[in-house]
Amino acid sequence: VVISRFGQHADIETVDQDILRCNIRRTVSNIVCGDNVIFRRAKVSQGDLAGVIEAVEERKTQLTRPDFYDGVKVVAANIDQILMVSAVLPEFTPSIIDRYLVACEDMGIKPILILNKVDLLDNETLEYVQSVLDIYRGIGYQVYLMSNKTGEGITQLKTLLVDKNSIFVGQSGVGKSTLVNTLLPESNILTKDVSENSGLGQHTTTVSRLHHLASGGNLIDSPGIREFGLWHLEPDRVTWCFKEFREFLGGCKFRDCKHLNDPGCLIKEALENGKISKLRFESYHKILESMADGRAGARAPR
Ligand code: GDP
Repeated sequence: VVISRFGQHADIETVDQDILRCNIRRTVSNIVCGDNVIFRRAKVSQGDLAGVIEAVEERKTQLTRPDFYDGVKVVAANIDQILMVSAVLPEFTPSIIDRYLVACEDMGIKPILILNKVDLLDNETLEYVQSVLDIYRGIGYQVYLMSNKTGEGITQLKTLLVDKNSIFVGQSGVGKSTLVNTLLPESNILTKDVSENSGLGQHTTTVSRLHHLASGGNLIDSPGIREFGLWHLEPDRVTWCFKEFREFLGGCKFRDCKHLNDPGCLIKEALENGKISKLRFESYHKILESMADGRAGARAPR
């Protein structure tokens, strides 16, 4: 398994749990953290390079990120679940959660919602936040409340991570680094340790890295993959990525129904019947609008 990749090299962990630094054969393209690879040990080790990666196995899932140059860039492979962290500080924003959920649905990776910093909630805010989270629970998403400060939910979090490849994502400031530090106390996750020549000059990059968790399972992490944007998706795909809309698809009166004010729209009908929430319906249209404007959360190139 690829622990970390940088330029033409990658650190891999063998089935015997040795960590070896390998060259990547030129014909093998686009290896990322989390990939399962086939490698050959070098007869005579060249410098500190102990082998050559010869092939990469088919991926179960790919974590992708919008890329200014390539359109979409794969940043990690074989992720089982994405822990989407939000909090009340910075402000609790369901439309951001929805953007991440659309991306997770599009990639076919299971999302788990975490509301962190619950220690900051007074009763009234807790009630509001729970009412919003109930919408997500109702759709079938798992939701957990947590606090780094009081330790609430942390044991449960550890259980969620067992035997899975997970990553944390979410807005800056919601407490992801603190959560990662709690889980991986020995690692200094902010260390920028690898210098990569990207062809655009010498950059210091924070590479993604796979970490084993003490209680089992792996965490793939780097500050660079914790916030991913949503690139352009076809409107039909966005509709499908709103999981609770799916059962109503294909039944609208007009084939090109915009699910807004069109007569005979089953999604609008579901909204009126309370089967689809107003909040999700509004998020859906906001996402479509931003995509039509070309502002779909894309990030400027670094
Ligand atoms: P990140 O940007 O998502 O990685 O967020 P950080 O982990 O850097 O946390 C941002 C700030 O929130 C820091 O000042 C943390 O100390 C604070 N923080 C993190 N978790 C909690 C929590 O559970 N409760 C409270 N009150 N503050 C927290």
